[in-house]
Amino acid sequence: MNRRGSVTSESSRRRCINCSLAIPRNTLIHRVESVHENIREVLNSWVTPTMVTPEHVICHNCYLLMQEGTISSPEVGHQSVCFGCGVSLLRTSERRTYQIRPDCPQRDVILQWTPLHLVSRLERACAACWRAATRTVDRQQQHDLHRSLGSEEVLTTDERPSRITSSLYRRAASTTNHCLYMNCTGAERLTIPQETREMVLKNHRFYIPAGARICQYHLDNGHWGELTSTLTDFTTHQFDEMMSIMERLSVRNDLDFSNPSNMSPVMCHYWIGMSGDQWRQQREIVHSVQNT
Ligand SMILES: [Zn+2]
Ligand SMILES: [Zn+2]
Ligand SMILES: [Zn+2]
Repeated sequence: MNRRGSVTSESSRRRCINCSLAIPRNTLIHRVESVHENIREVLNSWVTPTMVTPEHVICHNCYLLMQEGTISSPEVGHQSVCFGCGVSLLRTSERRTYQIRPDCPQRDVILQWTPLHLVSRLERACAACWRAATRTVDRQQQHDLHRSLGSEEVLTTDERPSRITSSLYRRAASTTNHCLYMNCTGAERLTIPQETREMVLKNHRFYIPAGARICQYHLDNGHWGELTSTLTDFTTHQFDEMMSIMERLSVRNDLDFSNPSNMSPVMCHYWIGMSGDQWRQQREIVHSVQNT
């Protein structure tokens, strides 16, 4: 696991939840659980859809902005931060940072390290993160190539990224080279909207890596249930992203497990195997048995 992979590492515990800066030691730091309710309210609105927990921290610059700030206009206390590792890019010389162009494959890897509310600010990365992203892209492409050729893994133990195999979920190949529908010859290679990735994961147990692309026809006429793939292995980053998508969806009202009758009928049946009315009846039966 690399230095940005573990949410419990010391360094990530000192990353500002708002601007992503790795807050230097001996610098003023504000824990979310101990700031005033008004600050928490502004913070939540600024970083949505990123999840905030009481253990998260805020750097002093962001804290000051939040004291003055309004809910409607998010700001960041530090402008040029590498979202991979949290270093300030102002301190590194221009030569040692890399511009992240919209169509470069490294962008898809770095996106996985980027808090969701900062995705639109993603422009540059430090040299170390760029190299790590490049290695991940190389490994992923090599891996997918071998999988699609049906050949044996050729990666050595050292090179093999840790993977999780699912018996329920499948995924598209992580490549920007073609449409995610197998054998599609569509020429366009468009990025897939986040909501679509979430919907397909939720409804079809099919994970679309952030780097995957789609042709115009399939984007406009997505028969998402027809997506096929033999890939059932997930990198830890992909797995974490699936989990956080599910977490976000469950926070939204369409997945209210505490009261499934609030879910849409389709979602309710999909997740708990019965309608909201059936769930209510079952609960009444259970209650009446408990009360006798
Ligand atoms: Zn900050
Ligand atoms: Zn970095
Ligand atoms: Zn297509």
